[in-house]
Amino acid sequence: MAKVTINQDRCKGCGLCVSVCPKKVLALDTGKLNRKGYNPATPVNPDDCIGCAMCATMCPDCVITVEK
Ligand code: SF4
Ligand code: SF4
Repeated sequence: MAKVTINQDRCKGCGLCVSVCPKKVLALDTGKLNRKGYNPATPVNPDDCIGCAMCATMCPDCVITVEK
């Protein structure tokens, strides 16, 4: 099964990964602030991930890892 991992402390909460994911796996965690003071992206539907890696490709800060 594909697995997406986000280094949340390095995320700047831009939301690009959220908007590009075709399976709606990711969301910004509005209940959490990371060390930089942003709402970090988090996998809310991890079981739906198909490992396409579009999120990792889009992330401007390269903080997403996808294992397939
Ligand atoms: S690998 Fe694809 S399906 Fe999985 S979270 Fe990233 S964009 Fe979504
Ligand atoms: S694209 Fe990268 S920096 Fe932007 S919200 Fe997603 S994980 Fe965070």
